Amino acid sequence: MDGLMMEYPLTLAPIFRRAESLFGHKEIVTRRPDKSMHRYTYAAFATRSKQLSVALQHLGIKRGDRVGTLCWNQCEHLEAYFGVPLSGGVLHTINPRLHPSELAYIVNDAQDRALIIDETLLPVLEKFRADVKIKDVIVVEHAAKAPAGMIGYEDLLARADAGAFAYLELDEREAASMCYTSGTTGQPKGVVYSHRALVLHTLGQAAAGPIGIQESDVILPVVPMFHVNAWGLPFTCTMVGATQIFPGPHLDAASLLEGLAREHVTLTAGVPTIWLGLLRALDEQPKAYDLSSLRALVVGGSAAPKSMIRGFEERHGLRVVHAWGMTETTPLGTVSHLMSDLERADPETRFTFRAKQGYAVPFVEIRARNDAAQDVPWDGKSMGELEVRGPWVARAYYQSPESKDRWTTDGWFRTGDIVTIDARGYVDIQDRSKDLIKSGGEWIGSVALENALMAHPAVAEAAVIAIPDEKWSERPLAAIVLRPGKTATAEELRLHLAPNFPKWWLPDAYEFVSEIPKTGVGKFRKTALRARFAAGKESAPAS
Ligand code: AMP
Repeated sequence: MDGLMMEYPLTLAPIFRRAESLFGHKEIVTRRPDKSMHRYTYAAFATRSKQLSVALQHLGIKRGDRVGTLCWNQCEHLEAYFGVPLSGGVLHTINPRLHPSELAYIVNDAQDRALIIDETLLPVLEKFRADVKIKDVIVVEHAAKAPAGMIGYEDLLARADAGAFAYLELDEREAASMCYTSGTTGQPKGVVYSHRALVLHTLGQAAAGPIGIQESDVILPVVPMFHVNAWGLPFTCTMVGATQIFPGPHLDAASLLEGLAREHVTLTAGVPTIWLGLLRALDEQPKAYDLSSLRALVVGGSAAPKSMIRGFEERHGLRVVHAWGMTETTPLGTVSHLMSDLERADPETRFTFRAKQGYAVPFVEIRARNDAAQDVPWDGKSMGELEVRGPWVARAYYQSPESKDRWTTDGWFRTGDIVTIDARGYVDIQDRSKDLIKSGGEWIGSVALENALMAHPAVAEAAVIAIPDEKWSERPLAAIVLRPGKTATAEELRLHLAPNFPKWWLPDAYEFVSEIPKTGVGKFRKTALRARFAAGKESAPAS
């Protein structure tokens, strides 16, 4: 017997309509590059998003065309979050911190037809503009007018009539947005979010325990809008009508603390590096900021140290909520809040559980499997690779059939994270099977650095590993085996890498070793290197 309910497509349109009809009076605030505050209402946001949608159609954007963004967390980015998918286009948020060659690769792979770029990021575009075919570049202007050949965002909107906006009949399975992730091998891979996945993720996030977001919330996402849709927060905030505070390019501890206090922020979210900086600033000046409105600092992207969670709570009365997710999971997968009986446990137990990645949110199913593809028991000891499935988990990468081994034959996504799961279902990440390094919430690919180092005439072998770093979570260290009879200094190697990598990718340390430990099949055994160098710097004689 069929159910007799409506076939109602799960698209971003009803979220947008709801925001416009119920929350027109609510506020969206952006800190501009010159530090001035820009404030407008949801009503203005809705009108401008419609204008953007109409304007993009005037520019010839058709159903499925990609529109890239190189923007900070700012109101125009939010307008693109809705204006682009509602025009039928696909929003492609781009990370401006990538190397120009990677940016060119990503823009070409996605075939971005138009690009919305903040004026402050024009120097980033200049470095790869000649290598891509973007038809229209739309500049969000602040201090200067858009350069010749580019379109001013305000001019574009001024030419478009919001009254001419019409909702398309979008299918919930159509792409709404996309985001690239750096994989274990090869080039970055595109993850393509359907309307349906974004809508269900929005509902899931709004309902996810302590993240649960309501109309009364004031949310400041520090996590960039080019990193997995700022973890979905702009969609969730818009659906529930929360006040949204965008920090623009100002992510230093003092600016963030000032913003959190001034706007009476109730929930904020970002990577551990950000919160470690904030904790240091608060420890130095415990009374300088009134953060009494703040109910949760959501942390994810890298493991949140227990000492940090404890420090915020015990010294400043602030609650850190640890969550895990991936670009491929839109991103929310698990949240570490305490089940009610654990709330009554002793402080040490409570902090131990809160420092785990937590248990799965509704509709994300998890399991951990060993090398023989058998489920490992949920005993808090047995390790396995975390696998997930659910309505907001990717089923493939964009145009990357060679990556299909990231999915199991029975349809689960293999995360590459090596975990234990305890009897209550709390996930605890032990390691990553991939050898990427995560610094300040951003990936650094070790293979690319190794290949470049091994291209140096004096280098025989190079392995780049992650070592723990208090500020950035992880930083790269290069272990180098020199060719017999050759010499090279750390400074020479740094200069060798510098022209081809972003500055923050360059290893902090170079250790000269006599050999790199290898696995049975001749791969670098990086776990052994990590164990050797993680605790402190150590130099072995060069051969
Ligand atoms: P990304 O796709 O860039 O968001 O990176 C996803 C990866 O970040 C995951 O596979 C994990 O390795 C790591 N990650 C995300 N959240 C956490 C967390 N809470 N603790 C430890 N690692 C995390």
